[in-house]
Amino acid sequence: MLIKNVRIENSKNTSDIRVEEGMIREIGGHLEPLENEDVVEGQGGLALPPFVDCHVHLDTCLSLDRTGPNLSGTLFEGIRVWSEYRKKLDKEEVKERALRTLCMYRKKGVQYIRSHVDISNDLTAFEALLEIKEQVRDEIEIQLAAFPQDGVMTSEKVRRNLEEAVAMGADVIGGIPHFELTREYGEKSIQYIMELAQKYDKLVDLHCDEIDDDQSRFLEVLAAKAYETGMGAKVSASHTTAMHSYNNAYCNKLFRVLSMSGINIIANPLVNVNLQGRFDTYPKRRGITRVKELSENNINVSMGHDDIYDPFYPLGNGDMTQVLLMGLHLCHMMGYRELNDSYRIITHNGAKTLNLSAQQYGIAAGRPANFNILKGRNFFEALREREGIQYCVRKGKIIYRKE
Ligand SMILES: [Zn+2]
Repeated sequence: MLIKNVRIENSKNTSDIRVEEGMIREIGGHLEPLENEDVVEGQGGLALPPFVDCHVHLDTCLSLDRTGPNLSGTLFEGIRVWSEYRKKLDKEEVKERALRTLCMYRKKGVQYIRSHVDISNDLTAFEALLEIKEQVRDEIEIQLAAFPQDGVMTSEKVRRNLEEAVAMGADVIGGIPHFELTREYGEKSIQYIMELAQKYDKLVDLHCDEIDDDQSRFLEVLAAKAYETGMGAKVSASHTTAMHSYNNAYCNKLFRVLSMSGINIIANPLVNVNLQGRFDTYPKRRGITRVKELSENNINVSMGHDDIYDPFYPLGNGDMTQVLLMGLHLCHMMGYRELNDSYRIITHNGAKTLNLSAQQYGIAAGRPANFNILKGRNFFEALREREGIQYCVRKGKIIYRKE
């Protein structure tokens, strides 16, 4: 297949991309079609590597019809509603919802996903998603994070489930230090999770400081451990919304540890702005981590959808440009260059967070033919007009085409 006239990652000039046997064979300014070669006219549109959603919960997505509503819209009611529903979780029902969710993602050009899966109560959802991960592998690559939603320090059962999920094939070990009963338990949970990850050579991704409490400071503990153990970029901290409320002097100190550690930060703007600031009157905090300042300090920041139509977030359709757009507004990243370059947050930065190999990701000859073509000469235009994805190419095949 020959894709004609696309602008690769904001390039001013157009290129043609030749795809053979699932790989990008050749990229050039003007390639002639071979005999019997399919030709796709890119019309000067923008070619980007696939979008990466670094943080979602496929076990809860699209469950809102079944769980019943979250009337207050708060995190605490969300956890209460979900905890009630998860007692009677059915494996087939989880798989059916996950497949529908992945279908939405596919149309939005997302080909890499990290999904947390709650293992606190039992491993039903985890088993379901292990099967789904294999089933969809040709179209979407999924990393599964075993997520102890209830915290690990007060429950032997949760620790047992977590270790079993790791043995069953979790890619990532999750945790939630700020939700543990005490600050001390939070620190101990990080120690326990990091030791487990080292023992089994897994990645780590914690729900970290997802609270407006400026005293919630587990990120520095996690970053210090990532630094000391040398795990570095294998470690991610999701949310870190408390950073919104830290004083600037502390943030300055914190950024040094973050830089030394090489840790990744994952912001979830749609859900953060929905769930944070709920205890504020006015002015209300935006409750998102400092994406702009972290990026300026060369700390890798990516983004996640977190929830789609579930007790924690009632909207969403798998569109990472919508997630990004909310983040850019909330973080005052609306300068032309910031907007134009921001595609990196939901592409390359996400790939780095997921520890994808450089040879597996990106539009270059010799790499797998995975990419999207969007309308617009550059990402600024694509984001402004948001006409959506024109083509999604995966392993050299068009898996979605806008009619
Ligand atoms: Zn989450």
